[in-house]
Amino acid sequence: MNSEEVMMEIAEQTAVCTRCKLHYSRKKAVPGSGNPNASIIFIGEGPGFHENQQGLPFVGAAGKFLDELLEIAKLSRDKVFITNVVKCRPPGNRDPQVEELEACRPYLERQINVINPDMIVTLGRISMSYFVTNGKISSIHGKTFWSNGRMIVPMYHPAAALHQPSLKDLVKQDFSRLPGLLKKAQETRRSNPNLTTLSQIEEDVDDDASIEQLSLF
Ligand code: URA
Repeated sequence: MNSEEVMMEIAEQTAVCTRCKLHYSRKKAVPGSGNPNASIIFIGEGPGFHENQQGLPFVGAAGKFLDELLEIAKLSRDKVFITNVVKCRPPGNRDPQVEELEACRPYLERQINVINPDMIVTLGRISMSYFVTNGKISSIHGKTFWSNGRMIVPMYHPAAALHQPSLKDLVKQDFSRLPGLLKKAQETRRSNPNLTTLSQIEEDVDDDASIEQLSLF
């Protein structure tokens, strides 16, 4: 199966998924959208009200800001793939619970494996924790990690910057570095064909010995 076919299958599966209780309040599942052969995947937390209505990720206020941020990074929705750690809306926009994250994990894992991106940008602390444990978003945002041969860049969630306007410039600054980081990720992968074994914290954060990485994907 190619990436397009896998994405279509995941869309069909998530539309009728009953693996966790989030399906009770689901109007539409939000499997993700964008380029199934993208070099970058953006991973948010979970659909909100508008996403649940439309079946598309980041279409509310946070999505508008994400569009602005993508433009700063010289990217657009058709060049990247955007998804969430859970594909159905947590009621009242609460954090997804552990069993919901676990139930949805195979979908995300399959998406990452088939897209095989050079870089994963996590939006917010919940998707960050899939790849980096014990990391505090306030100290590691915009820094680079490697997990299973892919560059991971944790970012503040766009909604956090909307709630806390003082973060806006910081988030914009982080996104402005993405083109350079992507180039670095691609060069590193090209010159290290066995990169799947590379799992080390980049030099810009290795002074923080308390941060651990997970190699889940
Ligand atoms: N917030 C998220 O994390 N994901 C969405 O799709 C929308 C808002």
